[in-house]
Amino acid sequence: MTKVRTRFAPSPTGYMHIGNLRTALYAYLLAKANGGDFVLRIEDTDQERYVDGAVDLIFKTMKETGLIHDEGPDIGGPYGPYIQSERRNIYKEYAQKLVELGGAYYCFCDKERLDALRAQQETAKVMPKYDGHCARLSKEEIEEKLASGVPYVIRQKIPRRGTTTFYDEIFGKITVDNATLDDNVLLKSDGLPTYNFANVIDDHLMNITHIIRGSEYLSSTPKYNLLYETFGWEIPTYIHVSPVMKDAHKKLSKREGDASYEDFINKGYLKDAIINYIALLGWSPGGEQEIFTMDELIKAFNLEGISKSPAIFDIQKLNWLNGEY
Ligand code: GLU
Ligand code: ZN
Repeated sequence: MTKVRTRFAPSPTGYMHIGNLRTALYAYLLAKANGGDFVLRIEDTDQERYVDGAVDLIFKTMKETGLIHDEGPDIGGPYGPYIQSERRNIYKEYAQKLVELGGAYYCFCDKERLDALRAQQETAKVMPKYDGHCARLSKEEIEEKLASGVPYVIRQKIPRRGTTTFYDEIFGKITVDNATLDDNVLLKSDGLPTYNFANVIDDHLMNITHIIRGSEYLSSTPKYNLLYETFGWEIPTYIHVSPVMKDAHKKLSKREGDASYEDFINKGYLKDAIINYIALLGWSPGGEQEIFTMDELIKAFNLEGISKSPAIFDIQKLNWLNGEY
């Protein structure tokens, strides 16, 4: 049997809210429940969204809550997390390989052309989507542009027809019409990958067997699977979890400053109570027990108990648990 390997892959775009921490906890528990490994990977390739100090905060929170990763690059002492911006050469190499395999293509369109395309699509009231112009360039045209240094991005080549189907452990069988998928940018003109590419490459290279993440990624997963298929890689098990909600209508949001882990600690909540609370926020152990140590959580954790419906953040329950510690 292959070893279970999970990862938490936060983007350093702000503080850790309860929902992020829950994703990390589930990934940790799934790995540990199966004698597997847990990997921490900082997804910092979108430099416009980078927030100073966010990496340190992620690191600190993981340490404090005991969600310790099992491996990572040697940083002259204990290993650090994987950091995507330090792995840019890897993504570039794989992007080029994907072009050779026919799963991606160079796109030389400048901003002017893309803006005009978008304006046209807006007027026609059609979904904004790249029109595949550069997928039709001849080999000579491509070589000439590359040789003369025209800036380019690399786009995924999505089949125009057919459907893509995959299985999610929580949501079941998901099928999307390929015609609805866009030829997304995989490698930007600055040579850095987008999330859409880096996550697939890393999940494969890091031998991740189970991907736990928010259900907002369900609709893009078919695109990732097309990449796995073109490379001839094994598709991991997907576990998409529903969001944590502020109330019946609104998700917890980083931007609105909701439910930050740090804030709860500052207000005097105990980290063990917070961990206990978020473990049960969307996962049910199936018995009466409500108070768990980390070891008990590891023993009890299973995928069957994860709920498909969104969990609503309930401060009263957290308060009660906090009183029990
Ligand atoms: N960097 C992504 C995020 O923070 C991770 C998504 C994933 O786990 O694949 O939302
Ligand atoms: Zn183009």
